[in-house]
Formats: sequence, structure tokens, C-alpha cells
Amino acid sequence: MVSQDLLDILRCPVCVHNEPEGGELDHLGNWLLCTDCGRKYPIRDDIPVMLIDEGDRFASLAPEELPDIPPPEQLHPAPAAPPLTGELIGDLIPYVVLGVAGLVAGLVAFLLIRKLLQRESAA
Ligand SMILES: [Zn+2]
Repeated sequence: MVSQDLLDILRCPVCVHNEPEGGELDHLGNWLLCTDCGRKYPIRDDIPVMLIDEGDRFASLAPEELPDIPPPEQLHPAPAAPPLTGELIGDLIPYVVLGVAGLVAGLVAFLLIRKLLQRESAA
């Protein structure tokens, strides 16, 4: 449970910034709903998460659409791997050629050794 004393003093950080008396919050399950702007702040593990990003994330949902248990905080997505550009593919070609050459060399060596062993056993 979040203490009532805490709930009494918490305000929506966006609205209290614009209007010192604004940003009152309604407590609904695991959520705090700003009565002024409609942002919805999740309460996770009894800790109200008063981050504007989090408030924005659920602002468009109606109160009855909010999940009972707030979803985990949205981590900032990891930067995407650089796309395979022509330059990068060009850089990879020598390694591909080396890999294929290594395979061919290994195959030739295998065949030679097998032939030698066959000749020895025939003799
Ligand atoms: Zn607000």
C-alpha cells in the first residue's frame, strides 16, 4: 500500500509545473490519474513512478483500459545495429573468400590423404 500521506502530497509533475495548485491525482488501483491533463502514473511495488515519460505513455488510455498491474518500465530501446551497407559488405568479402578457400583447401587435403591411405592399404 502506498501511504495516504504520500498520495496527498503527490502531484502530476507536468501540471504542478504549469500551475502550482494543479496536477491533483486520483488514486485508482495501481495507478495515479492526473485530474488535469489525464496522464496516468503507474504504481509499481508500492512506489508511484512519477516520471513524465511514464505518464505520457498511458495518457491516451481510458481509466478502465489501464491494466491492473502496470507493465514494466519502458526501457529505452538499444540502438539498432548499423544496416548492412555496401561498404560493410565490401569489408566482409575478404573474410568470405578466405573462409571458402579454407574449406576448399581442407577438402583437397582430406581427399589426398584418403587417396594416400587407399594406396597404402592396396600395396
Ligand atoms: Zn497532469
